[in-house]
Amino acid sequence: MSDQKVVTRFAPSPTGFLHVGGLRTALYSYLVAKQNNGTFMLRIEDTDRERYVEGGIQNILESLYWANVIPDEGVTLKSGEITQTGSHGPYVQSERLSIYKKYAEQLIENNHAFYCFCTPERLAEVREERQKNKLPPGYDGFCKKVSKEEVAQKLANKQNHVIRLNMPDEGETVWKDLIHGEVSFKNSDVDDQVLMKSDGYPTYHLAVVVDDHEMQVSHVIRGDEWISSTPKHLQLYKYFGWTAPQFAHLPLLLNPDKSKLSKRQGDVAVIDYKEKGYLPEALVNFVAFLGWNPGTEQEIFSLEELITAFTLQKVGKSGAVFNLEKLDWYNREYLKKMSSDELVSYITTFLPERFNGKLSVEALNNLAPILLERISKGSDLALMDHNGELGYFFERPSYPVEKLLWKNTAKDIILSNIEDALQELGSLPEDAFSVEQLKEKIMEFLKDKEKGPMLHPLRFSLSGLDKSPDPFVIASVLGKTETLERLKIAKELLAK
Ligand code: GLU
Repeated sequence: MSDQKVVTRFAPSPTGFLHVGGLRTALYSYLVAKQNNGTFMLRIEDTDRERYVEGGIQNILESLYWANVIPDEGVTLKSGEITQTGSHGPYVQSERLSIYKKYAEQLIENNHAFYCFCTPERLAEVREERQKNKLPPGYDGFCKKVSKEEVAQKLANKQNHVIRLNMPDEGETVWKDLIHGEVSFKNSDVDDQVLMKSDGYPTYHLAVVVDDHEMQVSHVIRGDEWISSTPKHLQLYKYFGWTAPQFAHLPLLLNPDKSKLSKRQGDVAVIDYKEKGYLPEALVNFVAFLGWNPGTEQEIFSLEELITAFTLQKVGKSGAVFNLEKLDWYNREYLKKMSSDELVSYITTFLPERFNGKLSVEALNNLAPILLERISKGSDLALMDHNGELGYFFERPSYPVEKLLWKNTAKDIILSNIEDALQELGSLPEDAFSVEQLKEKIMEFLKDKEKGPMLHPLRFSLSGLDKSPDPFVIASVLGKTETLERLKIAKELLAK
């Protein structure tokens, strides 16, 4: 890498919420900046007013801050409010209109761009004609031939117009992409791109080049969908006489069926993952692997470790499959790293509201690791509840007495087993209700006896379910008082 300071940028358009693909672009840009002691900048590209979504900028920033992918410069958050930091601003394109106008005029003066007065109807005809002749879509160059005098006349008459890039018809545009290697486009295949729209706004293409130059960006890291725009951008760098930054085009994100990842397939917004209980560290770790891998067996990387290990050279060229099961795996790995206090507070946030305050802190401490074995994210608790697999920890189950019976064992025997269990567990001190101690006590009692006729009603009276964790696990969560209460209810049912 040359001596130039590394400056990367994330340049989202506020057309919606930050999605996982955007998070990956931002993350890779952030990692490249950090590993080179560079700057990671955030610029808002809001020149497409029609697609502007209210609240988009706030959401993009909040999602990035949540993921800890925090810009050093540009549009940032200060105490939750949107602000701008740095000396190359403004960093919001709609606040830079006069800058683009100046550069567009410079291009016109040098014949590197031209006014185009074509009507939408004419452009539609051109499109049709080119399609018929199997030509690549694009402008046919009609207004390039309009004389200077005529242009002046039309402008004086306030005729509707745009400014287009005067793309050379000959030659090739070639660059060394940091991911794809050498990429080349025939200039004749590249459109005379609109640079300034009739509403006085620049298009993305002019704005991105002007801004990346003025903001001293050294590396443009963006999605593959922009690769065919790069020759237009490189031509602009050439016309302006500026050194172009390096380019890295990231592989598309795909669904497991290899279709392009899209909203239709489910959640793609970062905030949706946050709300489901994915931890930022897990999502970031997972997203880092969408296209990149370190070439070793290591899968768990903290952000710090990613800064050291990440390289664009190890990013693949072909689409990266977005596999939710893998994300779940990551999330569990990070949940397992939590302290018990952290886990309890995590679980508590996701428990259905009606269970609030129903368990003691101690019981929650016991419950949290048991739940962790059964979920990979907080929202799974609602699913467990829906399936009836959660409520019994908080509320006494009700069930018909027959459910307590075990195979052919007579009801009387089951009753006396429950009485024995009450006796045995009642004799244990309250602080001995750990899974190990409970198990030891009951198994010792059952040493020479048949296990099912005792363990089944014991478990069923505690959970009210055909399938549940073993009675020792449940009793350890419920604690002595509640366990004995539930056994007494079973006893009364059996004694009727
Ligand atoms: N504003 C573009 C987007 O929303 C950014 C493309 C680029 O990074 O150059 O994806």
